[in-house]
Amino acid sequence: MSLSCFDPRFGERMLSVDEALSVLGESLAGVMRTPRSERVALAQAPGRVLAETVISPLDVPAQTNAAMDGIALAQASLPDAESGEPLSDRGELSDHCQLIVIGSSLAGHPWTGRALAAGEAMRITTGAALPAGADTVVMQEQLEYRSTQGEGEGQGEGLIESEAGERVVIEGVTSIRRGQNVRQAGEDIARGSQVMAPGQWLTPAAVGVLASLGLAEVAVYRPLTVAVFSTGDEVTAPGETLPAGGIYDANRFSLVALLRDQGIEVLDLGILSDDEASVSAALRDAATRADMVITSGGVSVGEADHVRSALAACGELALWRIAMRPGRPLAFGMLRAIPADDASSSGQVPFFGLPGNPVATMVTFLQFVLPALRLLSGQQRLAKAEASASATTLAQWQAPRLQLIAGETLRSRAERVDYHRGQIVLDDQGRQVVMTTGRQGSGILTSMLLAECLIEIPAGCATLHAGEPVMVQWLGSRGII
Ligand code: AMP
Ligand code: MG
Repeated sequence: MSLSCFDPRFGERMLSVDEALSVLGESLAGVMRTPRSERVALAQAPGRVLAETVISPLDVPAQTNAAMDGIALAQASLPDAESGEPLSDRGELSDHCQLIVIGSSLAGHPWTGRALAAGEAMRITTGAALPAGADTVVMQEQLEYRSTQGEGEGQGEGLIESEAGERVVIEGVTSIRRGQNVRQAGEDIARGSQVMAPGQWLTPAAVGVLASLGLAEVAVYRPLTVAVFSTGDEVTAPGETLPAGGIYDANRFSLVALLRDQGIEVLDLGILSDDEASVSAALRDAATRADMVITSGGVSVGEADHVRSALAACGELALWRIAMRPGRPLAFGMLRAIPADDASSSGQVPFFGLPGNPVATMVTFLQFVLPALRLLSGQQRLAKAEASASATTLAQWQAPRLQLIAGETLRSRAERVDYHRGQIVLDDQGRQVVMTTGRQGSGILTSMLLAECLIEIPAGCATLHAGEPVMVQWLGSRGII
């Protein structure tokens, strides 16, 4: 960055969303520290960020096992697939074959006897270890058992109990391929291989994988602590009587929920009046207790002065005008923290002053604060995506973008990015198209309630016609990623 974002000249021009993200990424890189870690029980790990490299102590699955109920056998002992000739004289038809069942291998109760010989099979259940001598499983539906006493004939009966000497007839024998319906030991994860790296967000799938390795606890980064304030003399806490000219405090609740969803520990510090002394005292206090401070309101032109002067007393502040709607005014700063006594603190605490309109608060959180939090919390993208972006590129942490078709004509201004709240619906040709949720004012918070995605109308585009491709930021199945 040639010009510090705290240089007064920086705020004079309108920034694009991408410029703002890259300046933010550079500023945060300066305060970025690897968070401290702690060990937690696996049950406490979902939603945390892994702090260690995980090498598999075993093969998963640990033993070669059956993927279906049926019989295990050596494929080479079957009739030749080309000629259809049975190997043993027990074969009756070219595509039938009869084997002797010598026992059972059940899940949790592997066969411990001798290896299978040619012409022999073993009953097996899904997940049971393949007996020595077997390499293939034939599913139950292809089998017919013939009891030695002439009773109990029928498909799929008596899977568990097996009589020594029982015969089984296989149908469709010429199509059986070696290794079919068998899971090889280590086919999911090989012993000694790297399974996860530090920075892995512990999803339900990730904790499942860690459990499959037998790990009862893991090292995770300490969660970030973020302090949240609302500002404004009119802003009233829910539960209180709304005074004349008052408005209930929606932002603190949506922000706290967004933060908790990211595994963040939240310091909910209430509502600040529009007054420099109380704002600066509160910010100074918050900077000693939190890894980031977020306020909403009080950053629009004409109103920003007390935030600006409050910030000047306890850190550095940049007021940004970003070419986006909703969310044009945004303040970013660095608060001075208590002198750092450990390497995990830079002594500076990032500050975001989000615009007060409730939709603008959420949209700017999603564009800028969420990526910043993911970066600072030590998250790394999964290896496949890693190659495309450097660690401090914040854009990689925005909500995922998908291309859809505009279901209606959408209007914007060419000089800014518009984020319309959208719903994905099927049109009469069965295509997925995106429609706006209705009225799009930045105070219409119900537009976020209805939104499944943010429709991104890029700078340079004033009108997007129905039927044209359009990018959306997917907000995930729960409304927000
Ligand atoms: P400001 O950014 O302070 O100029 O506020 C812009 C608009 O958002 C005003 O109409 C405020 O009343 C409203 N607003 C500010 N803070 C909140 C909040 N915490 N909850 C709901 N609305 C708010
Ligand atoms: Mg205000």
